[in-house]
Formats: sequence, structure tokens, C-alpha cells
Amino acid sequence: MSTARELNRIEVKAAVRRAIEGSADEIIRLARDIYEHPEPGFTEERTAKVVAKALAKAGVTPETGIAITGMKGLRTFNGQGPTVAVIGELDAVKAPGHPSADMTTGAAHACGHHSQLGALIGTAIGLGVPEVASTLSGRAAFIATPAEEFIDVEMRWGLREAGRLGLLSGKQEMIRLGAFDDIDMAMMVHTSSSKSQRRFIVGGTSNAHVVHYVRFLGKAAHAGGAPHQGVNALQAAMLALSAINTQRETFEAENQTRVHGIITRGGVATNAVPAEVVYEGRVRGRTMTAVDKIAAQVEDCYRAGALAMGASLEIVSIPGYLPLDNNKDFASVFSKNVVTEFGEDALTTQADTVNAGGSTDMGDLSQIMPALHPYVAAAEGTGHGIDYVIADYRRAVVDSAISMALTVVDLLSDNAAEARMIIDSNKPSMTRAEYVQSQADRLRKIEYRGG
Ligand SMILES: [Zn+2]
Ligand SMILES: [Zn+2]
Repeated sequence: MSTARELNRIEVKAAVRRAIEGSADEIIRLARDIYEHPEPGFTEERTAKVVAKALAKAGVTPETGIAITGMKGLRTFNGQGPTVAVIGELDAVKAPGHPSADMTTGAAHACGHHSQLGALIGTAIGLGVPEVASTLSGRAAFIATPAEEFIDVEMRWGLREAGRLGLLSGKQEMIRLGAFDDIDMAMMVHTSSSKSQRRFIVGGTSNAHVVHYVRFLGKAAHAGGAPHQGVNALQAAMLALSAINTQRETFEAENQTRVHGIITRGGVATNAVPAEVVYEGRVRGRTMTAVDKIAAQVEDCYRAGALAMGASLEIVSIPGYLPLDNNKDFASVFSKNVVTEFGEDALTTQADTVNAGGSTDMGDLSQIMPALHPYVAAAEGTGHGIDYVIADYRRAVVDSAISMALTVVDLLSDNAAEARMIIDSNKPSMTRAEYVQSQADRLRKIEYRGG
């Protein structure tokens, strides 16, 4: 009995693999097409159209327009069981000068998200073969999420003020809207350019973060004729940034603190004292507690700059991402498939503590359900740099699709025994409702009136 069952699973997996291999050219072409048309978060209109069309062609017509550009398609198998989501991220980051950069927006696929979308479609195609439908229990969800890169904060805050967004990243907002309410576990594969790694890298964590949207408000005056009548908001911002730098010696190494930001508006006319300067900042750390502590120091530094110049200050402190918690049992199902498909030397397993310093909203999902965020070493160059490109599309798109599709087969075979075990033994740090509430509670507006 069990031999027949195992044999059956091998045959099912072979059919899934064949279907993905057979679509290799098509899904790589789709990834390359998206690469050529990069769109930053919450504006991925064209990308969303391309992905929705391909999902529909694969037999999983998605519900679209979730969190502006997000979508979700479902495939229901024969037996009853849980729902496993496969995720692809729709957005580009900004990297003017990158070979794919959009001339107007500066958006570029310098984080490899376009290849995730090829892998998403490949997984949908693989899990669409008749052999799968008749043997699996439960459902597979194919979800494309907007705006993983937490950028363009002023634009996103504007969308929120206009009532079009509640939370400012794609997965955060899709959780808030309930798009993940009927999802039991979720995975995606992100590209990596790490030269020292094998084909797939499983394990590790990521930093939590908060986002600061800061406006320094001064008073305009003729910069030549009457500078004494002005209040220089740019000087206030510069002092604040210097003050932040004085804090770095207090950062504890194990917290992996990162404090950084950009000035998105530094004045409007050279011959006028700058009356408004806008700074988008980020505080990252290993835990929310560590982030909150440094964020409070940084907020004091903004005040210090404003105080010295007699400027005013408006800070919106926006809850960013939670640390990534890869589910170990989920990881082991994925890892076994990587080893079977590509060999022992195709897999690197990282300790839970390995943290490169970045952040992802997959971290938020991982706090409310079993989640997996491995990497595929298929890129070269510096992440978010002008030289980050996919060096091996087959690996990024096809191998990732095969690994994820076969993982779903294992999870949902035998009446979804493996998936049920993982879901039952997973201990989420909060419920979905608690997550949404805590994101609302953590959002703070701070004002300081100088002068
Ligand atoms: Zn990125
Ligand atoms: Zn990324």
C-alpha cells in the first residue's frame, strides 16, 4: 500500500516536473518581459496585467486589484485540506543607471522580483497537471504581492490619506484586507547574488524595521537679502542627521542595527531659505524591542535639529517589517526536494541566527503562519545596485518553480498529512487580528513646534 502510494507520488512529481520543464521558455520569457518594464510598489499595473493573464492561462484566474495591484488565484484539489500559498513579488526597486531602469521613475529590477513571477507562473503550471488534481488534498494559492520594497513613503502615505491603503507594504495590506485569512502556510523563493553559496539557501532570518516619514518645517525668506528672517529647515535636517551619527557608538553589535535614510525634498529655490525638508528614514534591528529603542533615540535627534534652528517637525513613525521566522519543518520539506532534484551540493542550510541586515514583509507573514523564504543563488552584482542582474534564469525561474511545486505535492499528498502536521505544530507569535491591531497601534504621529 505505502509502496504504491510512494510510487504514485514519484509519478505525480515527474508529471509536475515535466510540465514546468515544458514551459521553461515561456516562464523565462515572462520574467524577462517584466524585467524590461520595471514598476515601483503599488504602481505595478502592467506587471499585474502580465501576471494575471499568465495565471489565467495556467488555469487559475486570479482575483485582482487586492491592495491596489495584488492578486490571488486558487486551485482546488480533489480532497479536503489546507491551503498552501506560493508568492511572487510584483515590484521593482529604484536604481537609476541600472540596465533595466525606467527612464522616468528610475525603477529597476535590481532585487530580482521579476524572476519570482516567472517561478510563480511555473509553479501554477506544474500544479495544474491532472495527476496532481486527483492525488492532492486542499488548495494551492498563487499570490502576487505589491510593494515589498518599502520605498516612496510619501506617495504611500498619500494613498493612505486618500483611503486607498491601510498598511504601506503589499503583504501587510493584503493581510489587513483578509487576503491571507484562508491561507494556512506560504512560501516564496528570492534571488541572491552570494557567490559563496550553493544553488538554494534555506534558513536564516531578517531584520525588523520602522519607517520614519519626517518633515522639517522652517520659514522661507530671501537667502541673500533677508536670511535672518527665515528658518532654515535644511540646516535642521543636517543637524538631525549629525545627531543620529553621534548615536552609532551606542548600537549593540548583536542587534545588527541599521539606521539610514534619504532626503527626498531639500528645498525649492537656491535663493530662498528652505522652508520644508522631507526625510524618509529607516531603523532596523534584530527584534522589535531593539528597533523601538533606537527609533526613540533617532526621534530625539530629529527634535534636536529642529530645536537648534527654531524649526518645527512632523514625524510619522510607521511600523515596518517583523523579523523573518522560517518554519523548520516547512524548510525541511523544501530542502529534501532541492537535494533530490539537484543533488546534495545544491543546498546550503543556514542557522536561524544568520541575518544579512535587510528586511522583508515575508517576516510579517511568518509571524502569523508557517512560512518559508529561501534564496536561489542565480544573480550577480550588488543587491539594489546598478549591476544586480539575473545571471542564470533557468535556475532563478525554472529550478525555483520545480522546488516549490514539488514541495506543495509533498505537503498536500496523503490527505495533506505533512501540511497538517506543520500547521498544527506551528506557534504563531500572534493571530492575524492581533497583527493588524498591533500595526495600527504602533503607527504614531509626533509633532514638535520650534521657535
Ligand atoms: Zn530588495
Ligand atoms: Zn527583494
